[in-house]
Amino acid sequence: MRVRLELLTVGRCRHPACMVTGRLEPGRVTFPALVGRMTHPSRGTVLFDTGYGAALERSADPVARWYRRLLPYRLAPGEACVHQLAAAGVPAEQVRAIVLSHLHPDHAGGLTDFPGAELYLSRAAFTALATTGFRRCGRLGLIRDLFPDDLAARLRPIEDCRAVSPGPGWGMFDRGADLFGDGSLIAVPLPGHAAGHLGLTLETEQGRTVLLAADAAWLSCCYRDLLEPLLPARAFLDDYRAYCSTLRGLHDLARCRPDIAIVPSHCQEAIQSLQRELHHESA
Ligand SMILES: [Zn+2]
Repeated sequence: MRVRLELLTVGRCRHPACMVTGRLEPGRVTFPALVGRMTHPSRGTVLFDTGYGAALERSADPVARWYRRLLPYRLAPGEACVHQLAAAGVPAEQVRAIVLSHLHPDHAGGLTDFPGAELYLSRAAFTALATTGFRRCGRLGLIRDLFPDDLAARLRPIEDCRAVSPGPGWGMFDRGADLFGDGSLIAVPLPGHAAGHLGLTLETEQGRTVLLAADAAWLSCCYRDLLEPLLPARAFLDDYRAYCSTLRGLHDLARCRPDIAIVPSHCQEAIQSLQRELHHESA
C-alpha cells in the first residue's frame, strides 16, 4: 500500500563536517532535523520523528542545559512540527501515530505537542529511557521531560508488530516490523547509533521506495564512502561496532538497490533531492 510522503525540516544545527566524515576538510555544514509526514489511507497523518521542539527549549533538566550548550540548534518561530502541520490544516489531535527512530532531542523534541498519538518505537529505546541512571542519560543524550507521562500507555513496541521482509536485496535489513499490518510502513532496525535505533521504509504514492534512515549515517557520503566519524561524534554512539556494521549494510543496500531513496535525517543533500522528486512528480 502506498502512502503520501512529505519531508519537513524542523530546526537545524551547524557543525564542522569533519566531525561526521572523519576527513580533513574545512568548513561547517548545516544538519537539518527531518520529520517525515505520511498520509496513510486509513490512519491519516503519521509522523516519523518530531524534530526539535519547545519542550527542549523549556527543559530545566541538567542534560537539556548541557545539550543546548554543546549542540546549539536553531528552531525558527512557527517551525516546530506542530506549527507546520497546523499551517497545513492538520491540528495536533489529528496525528494518531508517531514512529520514533530513537529518543535523541532532535528527533523526540516535539513529542509532547501530540498528546493523542500512539507511539511506535523499539522496546530497547523505551527500556533505555526508563532504566538509565542520570549520569548515563547525559552520555546517551536522553532528556526525560521531553517525554509524556503516559508514554508507557501509548507505547506500541515495534517488536509486537508482524515481522516481514521489506523486499529483495535488503541484505542485513531483511527483517522489519509491519507497523499497521498492511505493509504500508515497515520499521527496520538500524542498530548502533542509539538503543533500539530504527529506520522506516515505505512506498510513496509516486511509486518510489524510500528508507528514512534516521541517524544510521549523518550524511549520505558517510555510507557511500564508508566514512567513520571522529572521536567526539563517536562518543554519542550507543555501540560503535554496530554503527559501522549498519553503515556497511547501507553501503551494500545502495549498491544492490539503487532504486531506493535512502534519506538520513540530517543530510541536506538527500532531503532536498527527494523533496524535488516528490514535488516534481506530484505537480
Ligand atoms: Zn541521534
